[in-house]
Amino acid sequence: MGSFLPKTINKLVEEFSRLPGIGPKSAQRLTMHLLRSPESRLRELSDAVGQLKNGLQFCGTCWNIAEDSLCGICANPHRNHNLICVVEEILDVVAIEKTMEYKGVYHVLHGALSPVDGIGPDQLKIEALFQRLEKMGAGGVPGTAVEVILATNPGLEGETTAMYLMRLLKARDHKITRIARGLPVGGDLDYADELTLTKALEGRMEYS
Ligand SMILES: [Zn+2]
Repeated sequence: MGSFLPKTINKLVEEFSRLPGIGPKSAQRLTMHLLRSPESRLRELSDAVGQLKNGLQFCGTCWNIAEDSLCGICANPHRNHNLICVVEEILDVVAIEKTMEYKGVYHVLHGALSPVDGIGPDQLKIEALFQRLEKMGAGGVPGTAVEVILATNPGLEGETTAMYLMRLLKARDHKITRIARGLPVGGDLDYADELTLTKALEGRMEYS
């Protein structure tokens, strides 16, 4: 902010500015808000940030967030483990779970392909997806087909990612579907309301 301000203030503004969706103005406003807050409130916030990753890890199967080696969804025997919904972010899992309609499992890519930002397949959990599918093919329930639902966001990066995965998956004998359009283009899955998401999942189309 200004060089006349204490370093601690400038430091916090800088940290906030690095967060997604927070511009310099918002960063300044948040910092000033905290400056007016009581010490106890600040301690609660810094504790919450500091302890965020305590006891958390990524699920060894789907890369969702987990408190154990498997997330609650992968560890649930009542879910359909042959139905895998591929999403970009953990928040997409949260959004789809809120519909209470989806009974399959997930695979979180942790992003989407974006040549402009230098994000290629190696930066995403794509290899992990293929390893997972390979394992299922070998040790999965015989005669049970696996369906992979590509539920990356509508919009350029999500579509690019879906096309890329589709091409690779097609070579294997998995059923591949893409969630129906109707989601606002450029709108992320986690902004869609539950009915729209449910419809998009129900109306998924098979790639041929
Ligand atoms: Zn999992």
